[in-house]
Amino acid sequence: MNTPATSPLRRLAGLLVPAAVAGLFLFQIWQVELSSGRRIGIVISEAAAGGFTIVSLQPGQPAERDGLAVGDRVLAVNGHEVRKLLDYHAVAARFTRAEPVVYRVLRGTEEVQVTVRPGIPLPWLQSALTALTLLAYLAIAWLMREQAGGDLRARLLQLFTIAVALELAAPSSEQLIGNSPLMLAAGLFYLGITGIQIGLELHLVSLIPERQAWVSRWPWMVPLFYAAGLTATLLVAAGFLSDGLGLGLVPWSARGAYRTLFHFGFPAWALGVAWLLGRQATRHPEPRGRQQAGLVLIGLLPWVASVLIGSAHDLLGITRWAWLDQWPLILLPFPVAVFVAIYRYQLFDIELVVRRGLLYTALTTSLLLVFYAALGAGGALFSHAVGSQHASVWVIAGATLLLGLLFAPLRQALQRLIDRRFFPERSAVRQRLVALARELPALGKLPLMGRHLVGQLTGIFGIDSASLLIATPQGQQLVTLASTLVDFEEQFDQSFLLSPDDPGIQLLCRAARPLPARQPAAHSASMAQRLHRLDAELTVPLLAQQRLVGLLLLGEKRDQRPFTSEELELLNLLSHHVATVFENARLFESATFEGLTGILRREAILEELDLELNRALRYHRPLALALADLDHFKAVNDRHGHLAGDLLLKRAAQALAAPLRATDAVGRFGGEEFLVVLPETDLAGAVAVAEKLRQTVADLAVELDDGTLLKVTVSIGLAAVDAEAEWSPTALELLAEADRALYRAKGAGRNRVEATGG
Ligand code: GH3
Ligand code: MG
Ligand code: MG
Repeated sequence: MNTPATSPLRRLAGLLVPAAVAGLFLFQIWQVELSSGRRIGIVISEAAAGGFTIVSLQPGQPAERDGLAVGDRVLAVNGHEVRKLLDYHAVAARFTRAEPVVYRVLRGTEEVQVTVRPGIPLPWLQSALTALTLLAYLAIAWLMREQAGGDLRARLLQLFTIAVALELAAPSSEQLIGNSPLMLAAGLFYLGITGIQIGLELHLVSLIPERQAWVSRWPWMVPLFYAAGLTATLLVAAGFLSDGLGLGLVPWSARGAYRTLFHFGFPAWALGVAWLLGRQATRHPEPRGRQQAGLVLIGLLPWVASVLIGSAHDLLGITRWAWLDQWPLILLPFPVAVFVAIYRYQLFDIELVVRRGLLYTALTTSLLLVFYAALGAGGALFSHAVGSQHASVWVIAGATLLLGLLFAPLRQALQRLIDRRFFPERSAVRQRLVALARELPALGKLPLMGRHLVGQLTGIFGIDSASLLIATPQGQQLVTLASTLVDFEEQFDQSFLLSPDDPGIQLLCRAARPLPARQPAAHSASMAQRLHRLDAELTVPLLAQQRLVGLLLLGEKRDQRPFTSEELELLNLLSHHVATVFENARLFESATFEGLTGILRREAILEELDLELNRALRYHRPLALALADLDHFKAVNDRHGHLAGDLLLKRAAQALAAPLRATDAVGRFGGEEFLVVLPETDLAGAVAVAEKLRQTVADLAVELDDGTLLKVTVSIGLAAVDAEAEWSPTALELLAEADRALYRAKGAGRNRVEATGG
């Protein structure tokens, strides 16, 4: 079940994450402002002979404008001699926008002094793009909050987008040039968060569009992703720390380790992600799965390309293309693609949440605007009327307080209004399911309830087919009770033999909620075959006290959309109700109907006799009673065994029940004795009925597995009360009468009908 995002911890996280991102981003902008204020636009490189040379100049930036040139060897800045890059960075960190800086450089053999005014314009476009990308990532993270209940993919996507947002919001080492401790901190932060991203991203894409088979086969691969990512980045981080603090902590240099990561680690990561997604985008069995994986891959392609090209450039010693550092642009397509995959291809089924959220925000904002506009105007009028300037402040404060107090109920009303007005289909499904749940028990009989249930469900969900299987009392079989598949009775053997330890059944019992049919099918070949024949797309276990009492199978929706999580939730609720209703009906039937023969139990048929006899006597109506006993039945048992005897007994009971009217009742009176109650029937009528019953049984032939044909006859004794007669017997007296007649039938040679006084 989805837990709503209301736990205090989650609320706190919901506030902290955007606050941290916003804080880091403001800090980045501040640092960008500082660093662009002191930038002059040169690239320098340490010279072999000590000092360093200018390797290139950024066109149009202060160094070029004010007269520095490529090849100049920098000797001193503002009078400080600089020999090492670190010296230079220390001086450059103190530059301020437009404050003149004096460079003394060696140009050829000549010493030249150049005065440079640092400061390039703030890269506004860059910052705006970063802000936009951050918002896109945060939006996905926020959307996933609604979804994160049971879906691991949603949780991973949420963590991944937050990690990327934090990385993107934090100032990069480059933006911090001149502040060594901060540069070191930024470097470590970047490495740590990248290590986490590696694990998260590989894990996430291995679950898109759903858990891939190899993840189940080699579950240790997933922890391996995290371990590999974190180990690689932590090794580099150790190098950074060791170099940065000037300690020989580890035997490798930060630079060397980072290059290895950059040349091999990152490309491996990017290729891994692209390969996992690419495989699903081309091979997943369902088109929707291919579309989902393909879209996510498209979103990640710019990043994959930039990682691969960047590393290739570096390996080949080519200058990096400038666009490779446009991270906001490179990273923006991913959240956009995910959004499209959600909205258009149900990557997560929150399309509805998104639509409702957007509508709700728009409506609330406009209402608030109207409210305050009206308030402003009203307040001004009021102030004017009462002649006090402060009056309007009081009006606005008072109205705002009132709005605050009424906020919760107003919000609820607004949400209800939106749901009713714009999403009527949502409440319609709910209402129809509630109505269905209410109607079911009233139908009473199992087959009727089953037919109604499957019929209604196809309509409510717009699905092709629905079938209901019910467990036999011993729990060894599932029997198709009802199905909308027209030919299910002819085409399928109706029973669905399944042992309770079938892995597919066990999965359903453990899950205790609706599962896509392919899940149990993946666990059990025999189930896979049955589910396929019954067209099942979704399996809904019906559990009463953790026991599987039935299984509801739903086919594909006509519009081929998947079931939404809300629908699954509703189905889950319905399934518990249905399980109880069906189990109660079954218990009632098993208390009333006899297990072997399916006709009424002794107590039930005697109750029926009492009822009908009372009615007949009170209203002076005729009533007849037939007591039937199978002939020489002991011999059948002796010759063919008890099991064969049971089978014949069952068929004989069915043969006795078949020709009767709906108002007649037949029950098992004793071992192989049956009692038939015939209301509104006089003795003559009863003789006719009994003859028919006798004949039906005599015609019956039951074939055993070994080919033997079993035949049996029946002797029937009749008793009746006449409409006009004075006799008012009790049920027992009437039974005794019938029994006497039966005895006479046996005595007269069996396979015959005898009536009282006959
Ligand atoms: P008849 O009635 O013609 O005099 O001969 P019968 O052999 O049928 O005698 P009776 O009615 O006394 O038979 C009772 C026999 O029916 C005993 C038992 O072998 C058999 N019987 C009773 N209940 C069951 C049952 O549930 N299953 C099986 N297989 N046999 C039963
Ligand atoms: Mg008997
Ligand atoms: Mg008998």
